[in-house]
Amino acid sequence: IQPAIAAAGRTKDIIRRHGFTFKKSLGQNFLIDSNILDKIIAAAGLDKARGALEIGPGIGALTERLAQASGKVVALEIDNRLIPILREALSSYDNVNVIHADVLKTDLHRLWEEQFAESAGVSVVANLPYYVTTPIIMKLLEQRLPVENIVVMVQKEVAERMAAKPGGKEYGSLSIAVQYYCAPELVCTVPSGAFMPAPNVDSAVIRLTRRSEPAVSVPDEGRFFQVVHAAFAQRRKTLANNLSSLSGKERKGELSALLESCGVKPERRAETLSLEEFARIDAALAAAGM
Ligand code: SAM
Repeated sequence: IQPAIAAAGRTKDIIRRHGFTFKKSLGQNFLIDSNILDKIIAAAGLDKARGALEIGPGIGALTERLAQASGKVVALEIDNRLIPILREALSSYDNVNVIHADVLKTDLHRLWEEQFAESAGVSVVANLPYYVTTPIIMKLLEQRLPVENIVVMVQKEVAERMAAKPGGKEYGSLSIAVQYYCAPELVCTVPSGAFMPAPNVDSAVIRLTRRSEPAVSVPDEGRFFQVVHAAFAQRRKTLANNLSSLSGKERKGELSALLESCGVKPERRAETLSLEEFARIDAALAAAGM
């Protein structure tokens, strides 16, 4: 029996045999810690009726574990040099489909229809390339794909921002976007030694469980997120100052009264506001035509 792909010796062997060289620009840090893989797999709650979408399989450390735990794995890898390596390393699994693709350019709704029609629920599970973490997460959330949960390894600081509650420095538009669609939970923190090569930041695994309905109801999501972005535009400014970019400076008095009517003091900072408060302000701004 072969050792797991994630075993440091096997990873080194695969890399050496194929003469593979890591591309830092693609965020290539491969997992070599099977305890961390155990935690990722447990957090995703997979079984043989379910499917898994993996983004960036690398040489297949996580893919192999997903193949063992789920009914079907679809893995999207941008680096064409890895495709033959993955096919060889995963040749003993018949439920893995490796696709050479950039996740940001992939039609995910079509992929779902083509690949997961028979799966009773799908999880996205990935050790994400850190240079594109936020665009990937935002794409998964905004497209309202039928995912049950998203279990991802990200930079520790990004995991903290996703899970942050109002009142701290970490809380911002990413926290609001994630928490609007999902309930976040930190699974574990991960030292850099769990990867080859070791990155120069700490990492964490976070689970985002998709809500059946968004956390707050808003008339127009695009507008709601515009309001959130405007509110955080300059973190040291007050809410009224930041939001005056939407209302126009000449209506600032009216804007302050409107915030008061929502039960929000105009001199508060965006980082102290809950999702509910943002939703209330958004509705009032829309009603006032601001
Ligand atoms: N899953 C492997 C593991 O845990 O060992 C590798 C993780 S590594 C942090 C990130 C992987 O994502 C790399 O294999 C990289 O080539 C791939 N990647 C980077 N950008 C991508 C993109 N836009 N679409 C798909 N894969 C991408």
